Amino acid sequence: MGTIYAIANQKGGVGKTTTAVNVAACIAEAGEPTILVDVDAQANATVGLGVPKDTEPSIYDVLAGRVPASAALVDTAVAGLRLLPANPDLAAANLELPRESGSETRLREALAPLREQAAYILLDCPPSLGPLTINALVAADRVIVPVQTEYFALEGLAGLLETLGLVQRQLNPRLAVAGFLLTMHDGRTRLARDVEREVRQHFPELVFDTVIPRNVRIGEAPSYGRPVIHHDPLCAGSDAYFELAKEVAARG
Ligand code: ADP
Ligand code: MG
Repeated sequence: MGTIYAIANQKGGVGKTTTAVNVAACIAEAGEPTILVDVDAQANATVGLGVPKDTEPSIYDVLAGRVPASAALVDTAVAGLRLLPANPDLAAANLELPRESGSETRLREALAPLREQAAYILLDCPPSLGPLTINALVAADRVIVPVQTEYFALEGLAGLLETLGLVQRQLNPRLAVAGFLLTMHDGRTRLARDVEREVRQHFPELVFDTVIPRNVRIGEAPSYGRPVIHHDPLCAGSDAYFELAKEVAARG
């Protein structure tokens, strides 16, 4: 039975997609069958893995019940990693899902059969607490929360924790926080070090030991349609995501 991880934070640009793509790639390279589900209409994870964003069928068709999830999976250049792609059409789901009662469990039901096919299933969430993120949190066993070590980093985390609590109480009691992940960290700046200290004080036990550094190779890899471990396996960014993948697996 595979474990489902949602990568969520309603703030944009904090490293959700980068973390989803690179953790998925590292786990797959380590030999675990892995599926990345792109739950964002921007389709950045899809494109970042070299798959065109007009691919059909997509997660949008799966949520609408037109095809089973297994029929929408595509192979990627990473051995052992398959992708359930997004498509800009998915934006419509934000309007369509709330029209139907009980639609919060749509993704959970659609992904259930995939648990037999992969050890790890990662969900890349959009930058909002809208219906797609709620669907992802209802489907997930664990949530990884990327936090950029910048001013305002903690802003919004209270809202996210409140939403997590609501989902846990009303829809998905299994949901647990796997960890907060400090991303795009520039250890040379005092601000980044201060934010790191503050987040670790606020959430002792919950912050991953691994910190993802700001790294040029991580930033450029998606433009080549590949994870950083294929773009430059020996750079500091690849080291960090390998370490993080080990930590995620060890926390279970
Ligand atoms: P989100 O999915 O939360 O909106 P992304 O993962 O798309 O955030 O990251 C936002 C931008 O920052 C992207 O252009 C990405 O390539 C870049 N980026 C993410 N993590 C790093 C990093 N550790 N070092 C350098 N650039 C990064
Ligand atoms: Mg994203």
